[in-house]
Amino acid sequence: MTNLPSVFLGLNTLERVYGIFQRKTGQFAAACQKGCSHCCTCNVTLTSLEAAFIFARLDQAGIEALEKRISAAKDGPRFRPALTTNGFAAACMSQDKVPEEENDPSWGPCPLLENGMCSIYPVRPLGCRNMVSKSSCGKTGYADMPPMALTLNNLFLQYVEGMDTCGFSGNLTDMLDLYITAGAAVGPGGSAPLYLSFEKLQDFDKKGVFIGNRPVPAWMIPPEHRDVAVPVLKELNTAG
Ligand code: SF4
Ligand code: SF4
Repeated sequence: MTNLPSVFLGLNTLERVYGIFQRKTGQFAAACQKGCSHCCTCNVTLTSLEAAFIFARLDQAGIEALEKRISAAKDGPRFRPALTTNGFAAACMSQDKVPEEENDPSWGPCPLLENGMCSIYPVRPLGCRNMVSKSSCGKTGYADMPPMALTLNNLFLQYVEGMDTCGFSGNLTDMLDLYITAGAAVGPGGSAPLYLSFEKLQDFDKKGVFIGNRPVPAWMIPPEHRDVAVPVLKELNTAG
């Protein structure tokens, strides 16, 4: 585990990246409002840096509430990714077969949902932030995301993974449970959350449910979206 000071800059940069994401994609969330939570399933994924961010920004009461919720949800089925976003991009580039992944929204709601609202909303990961829709999912049964929203979602997912190449990715419940089990949620003295690197993961991950993060092999930006996406990328590169 690494003490927070060495990832402190990464957490601050992540916060700025979340802010840029909100500014660039808020327009696609016309139907999203407080209390709408059809998209909050137990299948959300995140990076280890984002998990460190959650624990670093929650207060002690927030961490204790999160621990109870995660502990009660540990045994249910949930989506476990076989590839990260950058792993997927690399597989596409090399024309490798992309492994099949099982993902079923009926596996249930996110354990961090409380009375239809997110109990960690200000610090939720990108996998939650990028669920947006222009019309109500409750009425249509699906999220209405224009192609540009998908492109920007992928761009930000690739960027955040690329910020955390010492780390790894996985399901939100698995990841938060790992941080709690490893004692990384609350560090020595009870106040200093820690960051788990991929190197240290092997000491704690008995189930093998996480995958190492990768650098960006190439940006998944369709030619018709370059005029919007490239300036966003330039802005991201000044976020650090
Ligand atoms: S993506 Fe759909 S379910 Fe989620 S908040 Fe927006 S409208 Fe509601
Ligand atoms: S962490 Fe929050 S926003 Fe994300 S799926 Fe869970 S309840 Fe929804």
